[in-house]
Amino acid sequence: MIVEIIAVGTELLLGQIGNTNATHIASRLTESGLDCTHRQVVGDNLNRLSDVIRTALGRSDAVILTGGLGPTRDDLTREAISDATGRPLLRSEAYVAALRERYETMGSEMPLSNLQQADYPDGAEMLPNPRGSAPGLVLDHDGVLVFALPGVPPEMELLLEDHVLPRLADVAGGNGVLLSRVLHTWGLGESRVGELLDDRFEESVNPSIAFLASAGETKVRLTAKAEDEEAALRLIEPLEGEVRDRLGSAVFATDGESIESVLHRLLRERGWTLGTAESLTGGSVGARITSVAGASDVFRGAIVAYHTDVKERLLSVGDLSDGVVSEKTALAMARGAIVALGVDVAVSLTGEAGPTSQEQPPGTVVMAVVTPEEGRSRTFRFLGDRERVRAFATSRALHLCRLAVSGVWWDGQ
Ligand code: ATP
Ligand code: MG
Repeated sequence: MIVEIIAVGTELLLGQIGNTNATHIASRLTESGLDCTHRQVVGDNLNRLSDVIRTALGRSDAVILTGGLGPTRDDLTREAISDATGRPLLRSEAYVAALRERYETMGSEMPLSNLQQADYPDGAEMLPNPRGSAPGLVLDHDGVLVFALPGVPPEMELLLEDHVLPRLADVAGGNGVLLSRVLHTWGLGESRVGELLDDRFEESVNPSIAFLASAGETKVRLTAKAEDEEAALRLIEPLEGEVRDRLGSAVFATDGESIESVLHRLLRERGWTLGTAESLTGGSVGARITSVAGASDVFRGAIVAYHTDVKERLLSVGDLSDGVVSEKTALAMARGAIVALGVDVAVSLTGEAGPTSQEQPPGTVVMAVVTPEEGRSRTFRFLGDRERVRAFATSRALHLCRLAVSGVWWDGQ
């Protein structure tokens, strides 16, 4: 079954509001195993609206309109459906009475313009809208199901769940489900991940593979279509196993789990506590970890050792002969934090966030992680402005810490 979405409203075309209704409808269709192949946006203009409805009727099995059902003159969806289908508009006296009652309950008189909300194209059925005054509509026009929903998001969502999706499921019958599993990777980069899975990508149909890159992470999404969730999982699992084998420790999380909550979980499993010693990031590594509910069982604190004096006093960094931004200093900072905070694991950062710098080129960041098993440090060079350098350094510190705590460290990463 092919479903098409039409969002109605000049404000959408002008960019004054985002088309979140279409996004919401599309994602609910996908979750219900229905294919959405077209999406249109059209302004509050009768001829153009009738045109896009005609186009949709000619190529889709179901059309979902949203917006333009209100009482004002620029609300034209009913009229346009009537125009495109050649079905005259009728007035539902029952709905007129219901509208009058609604206004009486609120203690006011119904404006006459509200009457047009009781109009429906011949053959259509009204869908009651408990959250607003504009009812939705459903019409079977020569085998194509046409739904008209209000534009106000909570009203639209309610009618979608209560009326549209159940009817589509009835008609489509046994659509099955579309299930995705997302594997989050870090450290390899999108192109390398793509190369490692190239042959799989080429031959993958069901389950299919997609790559999504964002903020240093590359996500691999595996999607299967099957009768039910269990069957979809059975299709995904062998491919997931293979992807995990090929990408190894670069895969750090599944289905939206964040790096901070993965780190929290790993530390708990090992029974280790954590602290940070941060110079250029000013405590943001610690802040990320404290975003996890219940972090206090592993996280003890962050020492923001920005000035060299503080590195010396609070972290007992004594030997600065290699410079403040050096692997020796980073290791000394992490070891100092272990003592000062009384923790098992410490991660430290020192660097030049830029744009000006003293010892090293801007963007140079040195990190160290010390665990009860081992201590290592490493130098990186980040490109971009000060905020980007600090943000990427923060994420990388969390990932290095994750690798160290899982005993993998970062060879080859
Ligand atoms: P009403 O009965 O409130 O007039 P309506 O069906 O006529 O509802 P519109 O007038 O088109 O709907 O839109 C009402 C409000 O709903 C808009 O001001 C906007 O905030 C929101 N809205 C409309 N369409 C969308 C959309 N596609 N995505 C997100 N929000 C939308
Ligand atoms: Mg309106």
